Amino acid sequence: MARVALVTGGTRGIGAAISKALKAAGYNVAANYCGNDAAAEKFKAETGIPVFKWDVSSFEASVEGVKTVEAALGAVEILVNNAGITRDGAFHKMTIEQWSAVTSTNLGSLFNVTRQVIEGMRGRKFGRIINISSVNGQKGQFGQVNYSAAKAGDLGFTRALALENARGGITVNAICPGYINTEMVQAVPKEVLEKNILPLIPVNRLGEPEEIARAVVFLAADDAGFITGSTLSINGGQSMT
Ligand code: NDP
Repeated sequence: MARVALVTGGTRGIGAAISKALKAAGYNVAANYCGNDAAAEKFKAETGIPVFKWDVSSFEASVEGVKTVEAALGAVEILVNNAGITRDGAFHKMTIEQWSAVTSTNLGSLFNVTRQVIEGMRGRKFGRIINISSVNGQKGQFGQVNYSAAKAGDLGFTRALALENARGGITVNAICPGYINTEMVQAVPKEVLEKNILPLIPVNRLGEPEEIARAVVFLAADDAGFITGSTLSINGGQSMT
């Protein structure tokens, strides 16, 4: 039987590429999303992957959401915590709403969703948890105190949870993408992209969502069991930490 994989934020951008790549690799995939029904319906029609709408920044919604996924597809064996947002602004002008939205979506969600599946994974002695962090969590970024803090938190979460579950057949790893060609980055003005961002990337281009997805498929594999607590940087050489 195909293993069940849940991808949060799995209907657009990097998450959509991850959902498709996992399906192509033979997994039984569920794609979560939050508010963009039109994009989710289009994704579902194009891929045949079922979509499940809930807000991963809510613990209660995640309890119900994961129950619905498991009732439909079976126990989640691969979890990709990918959902994320930005609400940029200089810290001295940042509102509590900007802080809370970003930390609860990019970091709180890792607790909210992973907590629903970890006991089952421990019982079955198999699990793959892959957290999508960011280069900006590794190195910090101007205007992104909220996002950098949350994404750095994802790395601490990854390492501690990896330690707790290392003997149970469960691996926990993080991927830190650099600038990837999705709507999140397409929102950056073209001149800022060309003048300020591309010169920082030694390979001199944005990454493609599929270039993150192939690493997820690699980490999700049954024979990737010795890789845990690791951080995989995929950033075109922008930051070599
Ligand atoms: P997109 O904005 O293209 O897509 C985000 C996805 O997450 C959508 O499916 C969206 O759902 C979903 N989502 C957002 N908030 C929630 C929520 N509260 N609950 C459930 N789903 C939610 O983002 P990217 O593909 O660019 O980013 C994916 C991940 O990669 C994020 O964690 C991001 O921080 C990280 N990343 C991205 C980089 C980039 O350059 N693009 C670089 C480094 C890291 P809906 O469609 O309903 O809005």
